[in-house]
Amino acid sequence: MQHFFAMERLSVYNIAFKGLREGVHEYDYHIGKSFFDHFEGSLVEDGDISAIVVLEKRSSFMKLNLKISGTVLLTCDRCLEPYNQSIGNDISIFVKFGETESEEGEDVIWILPDENQINVAHIIYEYIIVSVPLRHVHPSDKKGVSSCDPAMLKKIEEYSKHESDMSDDRWGELKKLLNNN
Ligand SMILES: [Zn+2]
Repeated sequence: MQHFFAMERLSVYNIAFKGLREGVHEYDYHIGKSFFDHFEGSLVEDGDISAIVVLEKRSSFMKLNLKISGTVLLTCDRCLEPYNQSIGNDISIFVKFGETESEEGEDVIWILPDENQINVAHIIYEYIIVSVPLRHVHPSDKKGVSSCDPAMLKKIEEYSKHESDMSDDRWGELKKLLNNN
């Protein structure tokens, strides 16, 4: 994942690395609804996540470690009710300087040579999004029983039955027409 940063907003996520001494620096963020509001058309709109960013500054390189853990609010694909999906991720990303992205790499961020700060909001956002499973369903409890809303499941089942009855009728009508001709 590669980015050039020109972000003015979300300034609390700016890490001014230039003035930092060499070593390890930790930044803790709490991610909630107001964070996701910054990202238009976001897959995730609400959540309760802790994001710990550790910047390692050395003379020869700079590295970010990002730990995210918490829950995001999703809509269940099965019963259509909202639920909290647990997510977690732990990644290391190298920060490199250049006018162009001179090297392909999954976990490299490119920033302009004259930059003196890095905005980690997009990085946190993207790693939250990639941590969301493709299938959005209520988790099962300890006994393996789905925690989907049974009343909603029943309604959906009735509705889809009704829908298929309707289409059966249409087929019936079509068949009648065809047989008559
Ligand atoms: Zn569900």
